[in-house]
Amino acid sequence: MTTPSLLILPGDGIGPEVMAEVRKIIDWMGAKRDLAFDVSEDLVGGAAYDAHGTPLHDDTMAKAQAVDAVLLGAVGGPKYDVLDFSVKPERGLLRLRKEMDLFANLRPAQCFDALSDFSSLKQEVVAGLDIMIIRELTSGVYFGEPRGIHKEGNERVGINTQRYTESEIARVARSAFEMARKRGNKVCSMEKANVMESGILWRDVVQEIHDAEYPDVELSHMYADAGAMQLTRWPKQFDVIVTDNLFGDLLSDLAAMLTGSLGMLPSASLGAPMANGRPKALYEPVHGSAPDIAGQGKANPIACILSFAMALRYSFDLGDEATRVENAVEKVLADGLRTADLMGPDGGASVSTSGMGDAIVAALDASL
Ligand code: NAD
Repeated sequence: MTTPSLLILPGDGIGPEVMAEVRKIIDWMGAKRDLAFDVSEDLVGGAAYDAHGTPLHDDTMAKAQAVDAVLLGAVGGPKYDVLDFSVKPERGLLRLRKEMDLFANLRPAQCFDALSDFSSLKQEVVAGLDIMIIRELTSGVYFGEPRGIHKEGNERVGINTQRYTESEIARVARSAFEMARKRGNKVCSMEKANVMESGILWRDVVQEIHDAEYPDVELSHMYADAGAMQLTRWPKQFDVIVTDNLFGDLLSDLAAMLTGSLGMLPSASLGAPMANGRPKALYEPVHGSAPDIAGQGKANPIACILSFAMALRYSFDLGDEATRVENAVEKVLADGLRTADLMGPDGGASVSTSGMGDAIVAALDASL
């Protein structure tokens, strides 16, 4: 067996700070679990622009294509706001997603008991919540042609096109069914088949893939607007939700906020399997570079650490080790340790970014 390879792209702002804490977990896995990773590190976003005049150097892109998984911190910052659109830090991230063809965006919404007070919903609605939203990421209305703004008579008209092919729907549906088999075995597919032809096709294809390949998984369909209501009414009815790019953008943000702080939310973007059977994969926290707190030791590293846990589970088939990391996070929170973003009215013990990383490593030690 070759050592699994991991490309780390810390990026800008708090990216390098939270990634330093992930490195502690990676080192711990090597030292205490005999799970060594072949780790390389490179630049992305503003950091890459400063060094190379581009937010993602071709060599870095080639490395990302060659490794088993990429782990990214965050990109962007006010310093780069003046740059031309083509070299803005975000373009580096978009290039990675596009060239790796990462069509399935996985956004878990998991509520840790110790943080159930943080949700805007009642505690009993969110306590123990654990759902996964899979958003199609590379097609749909954000990419469809024709698009643009043009003149019709005396006024301007803005056009975007919602377009999905059968194969684009089928591949993300398969991702959802595979995911469900590893979780609660339930998929709810969301679209607007009542008013959109692309929604009718979406519903048909998801049903066909289910009937032909995944009859053991429980499948339901819901209109996306009703889905939004159900997510706030009783989110625990869901296990895996699969939906298109536009609805997924909205629903995954809605579901994320059920759980509280931005500093807690991991994500994964997966593509087709590579020759070794592992999917092309990019793991990153949902949050941005948080320039308002960068360099102050205030950033919560948990979203990035949980993103690495997702890599363990989805790229390296190390589900038990992923659970070990998640349990360590849960324990530290239950012990009352809080970075600044998690300080609520109930108090808790304030820790820095590195203090949180060290506490999670200590909890991992205690798990042995
Ligand atoms: P942001 O996510 O960086 O910050 C929003 C708020 O949440 C800030 O108050 C910040 O301090 C706080 N926050 C975020 N992550 C935190 C963490 N880990 N711990 C504690 N607090 C945290 O969003 P923004 O302010 O809208 O954007 C800042 C920059 O990040 C912009 O340049 C934006 O383009 C970029 N951005 C990048 C990504 C990405 O890299 N994927 C995503 C969103 C925004």
